[in-house]
Amino acid sequence: MNYEIHVELDDKNHRLVAFETIEYRNNSPHPIDSIYIHLWPNAYKNYNTALAQQKLENNEPNLYYAPDEQLGYIDSLSFKINEESIQWKFDPQHKDICIIYLPQQLQSGESIKISTPFNVKIPLGIFSRLGHIGQSYQITQWYPKPAVFDKNGWHPMPYLDQGEFYSEYGTFDVFITLPENYVVGATGDLIDGEKEVAWLNQKAIKTAQTNQFEYDMSFPTSSETTKTLHYHQENVHDFAWFADKRYHVLKGEIELPHSKRKVTTWAMFTNNEANLWKNSIEYLNDATYYYSLWNGDYPYNQVTAVDGALSAGGGMEYPNVTVIGESGNDFGLETVIMHEVGHNWFYGILGSNERDHPWMDEGINSMNENRYIETKYPSRRLLGDSAEVENTPLDWFDITHYKHKSSYELMYLLNARRNKDQPIEEKAANYTPFNYGAIVYSKTAIVFDYLKAYLGEELYDKCMQRYFNEWKFKHPQPEDLRKIFEEETSENLSWFFDDLIQTTKKIDYKIGQLKSDENTTQLKIKNKGKVASPFSISGMKEGKIVTTQWYQPISTTEFVDFPKGDFDSYRIDAQLDIPEINRNNNTLKTKGLFKTIEPLRLQWAGSIENPNKTQLFYAPIAGWNNNDKFMFGMAFYNTVIPAKKLEYVLAPLYSVSSENTNGYASVYYHILPSNTFQDVKIGAMASSFTYLNFNPQPLEYYKIAPSISFNLKKKRARQFNALNISLTSFNIFEEKANYYLNEAGSYDHKIDVEKFYINSLKVNLDNERPINPFKVNVEFQQADHFMKLNLTSNYRFSYKKEKTGFDIRLFAGKFINNNDIRGNRRFNYNLSGGEASDYLYNEIFLGRNSIDGVLNQQFAVTDGGFKNLATPEADNSFIYANNWLVALNLKSNLFSKGLSIYADFGMVGEKANNTNRTSDLAYDFGVALNVIPSIFEIYFPIKMSSDLNQLNYGEKIRFTLNINSLNPFKMIREIEL
Ligand SMILES: [Zn+2]
Repeated sequence: MNYEIHVELDDKNHRLVAFETIEYRNNSPHPIDSIYIHLWPNAYKNYNTALAQQKLENNEPNLYYAPDEQLGYIDSLSFKINEESIQWKFDPQHKDICIIYLPQQLQSGESIKISTPFNVKIPLGIFSRLGHIGQSYQITQWYPKPAVFDKNGWHPMPYLDQGEFYSEYGTFDVFITLPENYVVGATGDLIDGEKEVAWLNQKAIKTAQTNQFEYDMSFPTSSETTKTLHYHQENVHDFAWFADKRYHVLKGEIELPHSKRKVTTWAMFTNNEANLWKNSIEYLNDATYYYSLWNGDYPYNQVTAVDGALSAGGGMEYPNVTVIGESGNDFGLETVIMHEVGHNWFYGILGSNERDHPWMDEGINSMNENRYIETKYPSRRLLGDSAEVENTPLDWFDITHYKHKSSYELMYLLNARRNKDQPIEEKAANYTPFNYGAIVYSKTAIVFDYLKAYLGEELYDKCMQRYFNEWKFKHPQPEDLRKIFEEETSENLSWFFDDLIQTTKKIDYKIGQLKSDENTTQLKIKNKGKVASPFSISGMKEGKIVTTQWYQPISTTEFVDFPKGDFDSYRIDAQLDIPEINRNNNTLKTKGLFKTIEPLRLQWAGSIENPNKTQLFYAPIAGWNNNDKFMFGMAFYNTVIPAKKLEYVLAPLYSVSSENTNGYASVYYHILPSNTFQDVKIGAMASSFTYLNFNPQPLEYYKIAPSISFNLKKKRARQFNALNISLTSFNIFEEKANYYLNEAGSYDHKIDVEKFYINSLKVNLDNERPINPFKVNVEFQQADHFMKLNLTSNYRFSYKKEKTGFDIRLFAGKFINNNDIRGNRRFNYNLSGGEASDYLYNEIFLGRNSIDGVLNQQFAVTDGGFKNLATPEADNSFIYANNWLVALNLKSNLFSKGLSIYADFGMVGEKANNTNRTSDLAYDFGVALNVIPSIFEIYFPIKMSSDLNQLNYGEKIRFTLNINSLNPFKMIREIEL
């Protein structure tokens, strides 16, 4: 396929005016009568495009909510074939794809000439990869481009952020016309460009001599005169260009390791991070050198990196030219530049289908990225160079010794440990945003690193070089890579290409015991995982590896031979090559009582999991409520990241005022089944605080709540529907002061503990989609004196403005039986919810049971959810209901997320002496100030169905303070990755 594009940049209106001619050849064995053409600038056309929808789902709604003037599109199309106008239409679903109809069938091997003018309105460069920031231009995915037609048929694809591309190889001749003072970085070699190259060379000399760059980021005026630059490149599948009048230029050269051919390197950057970019030629040269050395020589003449205001990841690759976002530091810039340059191999030269098999470019490229860093910076650690991070305060957190590679492993473990990971072989658009990084990039990098460690560098490189030579400028599929590896190694690599690539099966080898006599040492190894893959064992002495042996896969338990030697321990995978899900069972000591248990490490605040230690973390904590006043204490917990199967927290708090020891504790075990459920969690929580400031003795409650909870596995990882079923037994013990007449004839009191229990079965459907989210919760409660059934549902109609909408909440509750012999209304339904209905002590109320004062006005939206204390009539008891309650709560943002109007409606049913009474309709409405939306909100009533006359206006105002949701343990565990 040959492209000729003439394009003019209009930098006043941020538009491209262009004309394109494509020589299209039917390379398939089949005749074709229509051609899919990508029109990717239309991805920025409105909120409805596949790009806008994907970004919205990924919690990046800026394109969805963007005003028209920031959007972009392609227009003025008029397709002709061999100079004849033809029929064409947009794809019905995606406006960034069109179909052109050929006047007659194009036979296999025949060519036609497709031509069209086109104009592009360049979107603001804050959405994705095409865009402008002022007069800085990133011109990518910008021209009409035929989709690939291969043995599997057509591959049309809308433009997406998460998921890259698949395109035909061809030759590009692109003529760019723009004001003379623009510096341009582009795909291809300049043709007849002596004058331009001389100008760039001059700039490069000047930049090389500059030691101090300025801060000025303003744009110089565009020259009156224009220039036309002609770029030519063969054997590439895309063409991109970048233009900025402010660019400094640096130029270098690198000799390729195999052919000794020389390649020119260019760096173009603004003042923004000029001091970092000063060294960028070294990064370009080293990346080009190492990728050539390991995979095969770079086949083109130049490599360019430009500094751009990219809005999709840290950088983006195009043939010959890569665009790099803001980096922050030297190491960040080097990593992004080398990674993007590396894509010339895994994407550019080896044109795999990035939408269907993203690991073949991003994953293998990330493996090379880690290898580059380990090769060039052997003392590099997770947080920096070992010389920089060791013996610094970072040591307190026990995190300075982790290898650079640990970051990839940690990313993988975060979701793998929670049974939320996805296979490496998966379409790019099917990943959750987190897994796209954690699996496609990180897990692929560590599994290929594992393969390299097992095969050895020489054999691994031989395989990759054969892959490069056989498949360059072609479209390799996963099976093509596998075939080469299996042929070159003469091994069945099913454990790798089937288990590690295609499934989420985990590796977990365990070392058991030692059998030894004069001649042999045997180690008992158990495969506790689901993958039978090769593994290594090292003999260790004082924490250092003495010798390492690799073993063939085992699938159950076996004794394996190990050479005799002077070791104090044996360790599986001591070199950290294997993506082991659990390293805590990898070490066997030769002496001591607990040969397989790691020593305890008491660790301040938190750290990453250290498999060589049994970690116990601690941190000082403090709290306050009106009953206990100030409390201080210490939290102890066994895990921060990644998650463990057994997790516990113990957080005692001492109150100086009540002299009570309060606090919170929980212990949960996670069963992570392979199907039906993502997690089954069994355990219990306990808490205790002062609930009543009775004089002379504060009264405490104790709560112990064992539970089992089931999270259903999602059918699609990206789906928003989540179903949870839980069964909890709440056991509440309350201190009560009981008065009695003592022998002296006066009243005295004694403290008794009264207990009640409530069993609760809950079914929770949660759909946190960004637009119109909803949830439905059904709860059945059983105690020895009542049973009730509650339904709560929430729905938000989202407005076309971020974080605003119309919220509807519906509550319906009914007692199935109610023999409340206690004669109090404690377990009844309550119109105004909050503290009065919180007999399970689920919420945190700063002023629990306080009679007056501002703290008494804290509430939580439970039961009837009334924001103010309205009643249906003057009868206050009708706040409560011993039979049923229905309520509707409405809330709508006004101008911003900070201000709402609200209204509540409700009715209650009472039963007394076998007669049923139904109340009038109760209502309230008013204005809410959402100081911190859904956490701290204040409700000012305007009108209520029945004012509680004894309250003045100030006392009718109520507020929510949802402290529960700020609990750091909860936040770490519940964050949706
Ligand atoms: Zn990449």
